[in-house]
Amino acid sequence: MRVVVIGAGVIGLSTALCIHERYRSVLPSLDMRVYADRFTPLTNTDVAAGLCQPYLSDPRNPQEADWNQQTFDHLLSRVHSPNAANVGLALVSGYNLFHEAIPVARGGADVIINCTGVWAGSLQPDPLLQPGRGQIIKVDAPWMKHFIITHDPEKGIYKSPYIIPGIQAVTLGGIFQLGNWSEVNNIQDHNTIWEGCCRLEPTLQDAKIVAELTGLRPVRPQIRLEREQLRFASSNTEVIHNYGHGGYGLTIHWGCALEAAKLFGKVLEERKLLKMPPPHL
Ligand SMILES: Cc1cc2nc3c(=O)[nH]c(=O)nc-3n(C[C@H](O)[C@H](O)[C@H](O)COP(=O)(O)OP(=O)(O)OC[C@H]3O[C@@H](n4cnc5c(N)ncnc54)[C@H](O)[C@@H]3O)c2cc1C
Repeated sequence: MRVVVIGAGVIGLSTALCIHERYRSVLPSLDMRVYADRFTPLTNTDVAAGLCQPYLSDPRNPQEADWNQQTFDHLLSRVHSPNAANVGLALVSGYNLFHEAIPVARGGADVIINCTGVWAGSLQPDPLLQPGRGQIIKVDAPWMKHFIITHDPEKGIYKSPYIIPGIQAVTLGGIFQLGNWSEVNNIQDHNTIWEGCCRLEPTLQDAKIVAELTGLRPVRPQIRLEREQLRFASSNTEVIHNYGHGGYGLTIHWGCALEAAKLFGKVLEERKLLKMPPPHL
């Protein structure tokens, strides 16, 4: 069985890993390859601050709450592993500051897994998908031990300053521009981030800037996580879509990967390729 995953951001890699872990022992013919035109450190995933904070996902979709929980449990179970720091995994405490109460491919594969994030529309038109451009500044500020995220309901989500310490650097942000495809750093956005974050935490004036990055959040009213059968030439190809994770792809990735693996399992069942049930599903 030839499986092609398109996309090497957090969604594509976690989906590939999840399917590989669950099906390699029961499907010896599994031949899975990941294709992408950008790999780390050039994906949007590399731009993310990396905070696991599920409050931004779609509250109308109870499944998303489960996927967030599964992701959180998965990460928490690994946070004390010897490899945790290498994958950027650490527990961090911090503050959410509110001014007021908030309202609440073509042939050649049997299965294609579409994890192309904000560019999914170039494979198959999707008018619901838009870029939510973000820009961040990474600084060396090891004295910052807590995250501080401000919320301004009037400006909207992601548009007010945030400071998020990571393992190697502290991420400063607060830019969200719906519909803007530019991947170039913008000096006005730089000033907005810098002034906003230094106002929030004046000691940052002394911090050395180590990087500045722009990324595109794959914004969609709901994550697209579903099967579709497409006809290429004379054969039917099964496609599993897993994209549109907005500004919370890291927060929800593992739950979505598990769900994609379940959909993959259904394909195997229907094609009578499973000799025994896969472990852990
Ligand atoms: C400034 C900023 C801060 C963020 N902070 C957080 C945070 O703190 N916490 C959080 O959970 N999320 C955060 N996010 C959101 C997170 O980055 C995204 O939700 C996540 O990276 C989406 O992952 P992805 O794998 O779908 O997309 P991507 O990382 O964009 O990967 C898409 C992959 O698909 C490939 N691809 C696309 N089209 C094609 C094609 N036609 N052919 C071949 N390859 C293709 C690309 O090359 C790439 O490998 C942030 C985003 C931004 C921009």
